[in-house]
Amino acid sequence: MNEARPPRALIVGGSLGGLFAATTLRAIGWDVQVFERSISALDSRGGGIVLQPDVLAAFRFAGIERAKALGVRSGDRIYLDASDNVIDRAFMPQTQTSWNMLHGSLSRALPPALVHRGETLVGFDQQENGVHAHFASGRIERGDLLVGADGPRSTVRELLLPDALPRYAGYVAWRGLAPEHLVSDRAKAKLEGTFSFQQGKDFLLLAYLVPGEDESTVPGHRRWNWVWYRRSDEGADFDEAMTDAHGRRRQFSIPPGALAARSAQALREAASRLLAPSFADLVDATQEPFVQAILDLDVSRMVFDRVVLVGDAAFIARPHTAGSTAKAAANAVALAEALASSPGIDASLGEWGRQQVQAGRDMTARGRAMGDRIMGILHTARRHQANAATKTDDWP
Ligand SMILES: Cc1cc2nc3c(=O)[nH]c(=O)nc-3n(C[C@H](O)[C@H](O)[C@H](O)COP(=O)(O)OP(=O)(O)OC[C@H]3O[C@@H](n4cnc5c(N)ncnc54)[C@H](O)[C@@H]3O)c2cc1C
Repeated sequence: MNEARPPRALIVGGSLGGLFAATTLRAIGWDVQVFERSISALDSRGGGIVLQPDVLAAFRFAGIERAKALGVRSGDRIYLDASDNVIDRAFMPQTQTSWNMLHGSLSRALPPALVHRGETLVGFDQQENGVHAHFASGRIERGDLLVGADGPRSTVRELLLPDALPRYAGYVAWRGLAPEHLVSDRAKAKLEGTFSFQQGKDFLLLAYLVPGEDESTVPGHRRWNWVWYRRSDEGADFDEAMTDAHGRRRQFSIPPGALAARSAQALREAASRLLAPSFADLVDATQEPFVQAILDLDVSRMVFDRVVLVGDAAFIARPHTAGSTAKAAANAVALAEALASSPGIDASLGEWGRQQVQAGRDMTARGRAMGDRIMGILHTARRHQANAATKTDDWP
């Protein structure tokens, strides 16, 4: 490492994992450069996220001050039956935020010149004490460390561990954000202040309030985030769910605005048939529902000399853990702490990698056990029975 300049991190991916890495490494004095494939702003596309302590810790570590609340508080957890009756209630306060709130806060903490949009990593080569990253544009950058924060279909991981591929878990999450002012009075009266659920045969629906698109937490300006997990075996049903408005079969998700009209129609019909009326009203009040396949991914390593994997590029946990964003934040804080506390980069990475792999494995195992049990996927539930004994009552 050249002592005359700060060490340089090339961060591939400008979603939450990449921005957590960028803000925390910058906080320990590194020169960070973020390369994001997407040209457009990502921030209109995310949904709700349960705000976890690791996210707040990453904000504190990076020195990011928030003048306003980062989310919306809920008090009771309630379960509804198909007739809108509350069949269970427990006081379990927590805070829910949104992808765009976190992404906006992290983005504003970075000078715009450090984020390079429209740059797709296609390869890299490592030399002693550094790495060269190659982009589709022809650009080549040198860094002391390359951070692969490029998500479930990571190019960085594919180049290092070509056999580590995300696996479909057998169910999908239909999702949406309904602006508060468009939601029916009966739904508001029933759901206000709660984190609410409906468990059905082969499905689970959950809903909670999150900040508005403009990050407002003022009543009337917030949004209802709902997620409807539904079994969908591989085959015709799953293919249909993953076919977008242009007839294109997407691999694992269809973003807001791209859902086929017939899928949106089928979703609303199923909602009015199967869901509690308050939840069906949320689905009805959603302009752009979207869908994501639930995936599993584990890796055996996160450190490859001067290249590391973080966030969803390394481990994809079932969303019932409410932990994917928190995991990306924890990966970043631990990386920055390790690099700050050791005189050499290589010496810092080994122990960091071992700890993060263990934490990732624990989270994915717990999430699979919870998800399989919730969705009644018995064969895998049995396989993960040992994990089912742990913390099973906190899924979002
Ligand atoms: C638009 C969006 C919305 C989301 N909404 C939610 C949500 O509502 N709730 C929730 O819990 N989680 C959500 N997630 C996932 C959540 O953000 C992740 O669990 C968390 O951010 C950690 O993921 P990540 O940053 O590791 O990966 P991702 O969020 O998947 O980000 C990976 C990034 O890498 C970029 N990328 C991929 N390949 C390349 C390449 N070769 N070169 C350059 N860039 C590349 C992608 O464009 C993407 O921006 C969302 C993710 C995205 C991208």
